[in-house]
Amino acid sequence: MKAMAGVLKTLVIILILLIVGALAAAAFQIYQNGECFHIAKKLEAVEPTCTEPGLTEGEACIICGSILKEQEEIPALGHEFGAESCLRCGLDYSMSALSLGSGAEYSLTIGEYIGLNFRLSLTDADVAAGGYVSMRYDNRTERVNLADAEVAADGKYIFSFDVTVLQLTGDVTAQRYTSAGQAVGTAYTASVKGYCDEVLSGNGLDAEKAMIRALLNYAGFCQIYNGTETAETAVNAGLYAAGENPVDDVTDETLTALQSSETGTGLTSMTGMQLSAMILGFDSTARLKFIAEFAEGYDWDDYEITVSGGIEYEASGDILTLKNIAAINLDRYYTVTIRNKADGTELTFGRSVLSVASRYLALEDEKIDDLIKSMYLYNVAAHEYFAAKGE
Ligand SMILES: [Zn+2]
Ligand SMILES: [Zn+2]
Repeated sequence: MKAMAGVLKTLVIILILLIVGALAAAAFQIYQNGECFHIAKKLEAVEPTCTEPGLTEGEACIICGSILKEQEEIPALGHEFGAESCLRCGLDYSMSALSLGSGAEYSLTIGEYIGLNFRLSLTDADVAAGGYVSMRYDNRTERVNLADAEVAADGKYIFSFDVTVLQLTGDVTAQRYTSAGQAVGTAYTASVKGYCDEVLSGNGLDAEKAMIRALLNYAGFCQIYNGTETAETAVNAGLYAAGENPVDDVTDETLTALQSSETGTGLTSMTGMQLSAMILGFDSTARLKFIAEFAEGYDWDDYEITVSGGIEYEASGDILTLKNIAAINLDRYYTVTIRNKADGTELTFGRSVLSVASRYLALEDEKIDDLIKSMYLYNVAAHEYFAAKGE
């Protein structure tokens, strides 16, 4: 009898399971409509790095594999420029250190700014005693406390002086002082142009020499465009004479093609404001400016601005400026979203310095053409140089 009851119990359980199964199958039929029922699994987010884009979190079905929530690409962050290396990934992008005599060296970095770096050997006791290094160019003086100096991988203390492309030939003088203002040792004098000449005549990396030629070309065309020098006297005059001036090899099409990667509906209107123009600003570091036209009673406080890629920006008056765009980032597309806080209307657009710059070719002004094309080559050289340093 007991055995009989056990079998019966088992049969009842099987029956119940069959009924539940049938109901589940029916439910499955109802909801699936001949398609997969979808069971989601999370697709992990991927953090972007300096050079590689990341992904937002997504969802995919574990049965059929279809994507339920698309992962969106997060643009690469770009390097965070320190005096000689990236503050985020540590990539050392400094150029060869050359001797200034008595243990001091100098180097050049092309990051957010063109940095002429004085590299000094200091002991811990020197730094503990305080003091500073004063750097002077014309009537501009910058003072960096020893304790605030960046320390390079080789232990040298770096005192970096930013110069614009129009200041490459001038001498920068650096002098160390005690905290009491007493000069210590000799003063060192260096110029970017002097550094460039020294590297170009030495046995440096090919990519380094190419970067320097591109810098001199770009700076020279900036000088010519600004009217401070002529083709004969500009900082790239020697390169021009030597036929190492490849701007003529860059076609207008190469540059205007960059506009096809622009995103967004362009400069359309939104509640209370519209963008009326884009302006390119440049010297050692490029700036993209967007001119806003506000309706009566509106200003930037009414809008929330987000810019991709960690670039510094400023909204004041009627201008939104993306600042300090380094040579290697001239081709980076920065996505700007401006959202009206009150009604949520927004405009989003992606632009790069070079995509905007290419529009200036339409002016058919030879000085501007040379400048824009040399800027393009400056960017190309920067990519090759950073790739060579990263290997
Ligand atoms: Zn599925
Ligand atoms: Zn980096």
